Amino acid sequence: METITYNIYEYIFLRRINMYFEITPDEDFIKTDGVPGPTKHEIRALVISKTCLTDEDVVVDVGCGTGGLTLEFAKRAKKVYSIDINPDAIQTTRANLEKFGVANKVELIEEEGLQALDHIEDFTKLMIGGSGGNLQNIIEAGYLKLPVGGRIIITSIVLETATESVEMLKALGANPEVVTLNVSKGTVLDRGVMMKALNPITIVSARKE
Ligand code: SAH
Repeated sequence: METITYNIYEYIFLRRINMYFEITPDEDFIKTDGVPGPTKHEIRALVISKTCLTDEDVVVDVGCGTGGLTLEFAKRAKKVYSIDINPDAIQTTRANLEKFGVANKVELIEEEGLQALDHIEDFTKLMIGGSGGNLQNIIEAGYLKLPVGGRIIITSIVLETATESVEMLKALGANPEVVTLNVSKGTVLDRGVMMKALNPITIVSARKE
């Protein structure tokens, strides 16, 4: 069998390229008590797919938490604006972006989501992962600023977030898609694989018409 050997520079280059294709494992994130996230690996993979992300995209991530989704966007998009009302979330997201070498792609904004959207222009994809009672206003303000063909994605752990998002997007003339992900993870035991269910996450997404 032929063995391929790399010098150290080729190795570092390949590691960086790989990082752009992989979804970062949950356990690799720096965590802070009281800051939610990261969004689970499998959910991040589907969100990236629903976002239809390209390297031309400018993404706004409202409610960046630990930076789980921000990191995946930063690896693939041109620029990311990440907003959180909680200063600890901003610090944690910054630490994770620095850890993975993509902090230069991201502008971190410590502010309430609706207020922050007021002064951000020219984005093509909008992710809402936290809205604290301001969901409908954030969807409306963000959707109106998206260009035709842009996309909005809302992840929800409670049913009401999903149904409110659908109603709001319908009222704005969009055609929302709703997907609930029921992920179960296996633990390999001597006598078999025991599956354990994680809480379902609903992803509402729509293209700006
Ligand atoms: N997607 C993140 C987790 C998001 S948790 C990850 O993968 O790591 C939701 C976040 O939304 C929390 O950090 C919370 O502080 C933030 N949040 C809630 N309401 C908000 C609002 N109105 N404006 C900005 N951030 C908000």
